[in-house]
Amino acid sequence: MNSDLAKLIDLQATDNEIKRVEAALQDVPRRQTEIEAEWALAGAQLTAARERLAAAQTRRRGNEGALQDLESHRSKYRSQLMEVKTNREYQAMLHEIESVERDIRGIEDRIIEDMEAGEGLSAALTREQQTLAESEKRHQHAIGEIETQKRALDEQRQRWLTERAALAAMLPAELIELYTRVARLRGAAVAEARDGTCQQCRMVLRPQMYVELKRNDQIVQCPSCSRVLYYVPPPAAAADAHL
Ligand SMILES: [Zn+2]
Repeated sequence: MNSDLAKLIDLQATDNEIKRVEAALQDVPRRQTEIEAEWALAGAQLTAARERLAAAQTRRRGNEGALQDLESHRSKYRSQLMEVKTNREYQAMLHEIESVERDIRGIEDRIIEDMEAGEGLSAALTREQQTLAESEKRHQHAIGEIETQKRALDEQRQRWLTERAALAAMLPAELIELYTRVARLRGAAVAEARDGTCQQCRMVLRPQMYVELKRNDQIVQCPSCSRVLYYVPPPAAAADAHL
């Protein structure tokens, strides 16, 4: 095979690798953001659970304070009950005491409700703490893994770039120019010719041209897409060639 053609094929393979590695590198920040978001969500859920529990505890303390006030009213009314002179005052005082006791029962019910709810909220808080701890473990592991992958990709990229520079240095300037121009236009500057056809743009090649390019001994461009064409002999033919 023409050695420039072989180098152009290698250059294309190298550029494909560089593109693949760079696409994987570009995906790294997106994957990092995804993991950060999952981590932030677990943190937010823990904060919400903590706030719900704190609110229930505050409400309960408020009710306990109100209960004490009502109980001291009740004992004040009860001692006043001993001192009233008329039956009407007595009935009125009894009425006050009944009303305070109704309020006391209402507040006691609310305190019990909050105590019961508090148990559920404490359990929920414990669950959220566990979720956060697990999420942190996963998060650290995933971040570490992505960083390792990124370093490996950076190294691969550097290796391919070095290889590319070496290949490019061995090619004549006009071929590099041709390669660069076609690659910019078509994405890839090299194409396989098979079954009389350019495998990239599907142009059917003139028979004489196909016969010539099958020798792989010169630089031939596809008349339609301008890519440099090369021919890969089928495995059987290649084996025959070695006999
Ligand atoms: Zn073509």
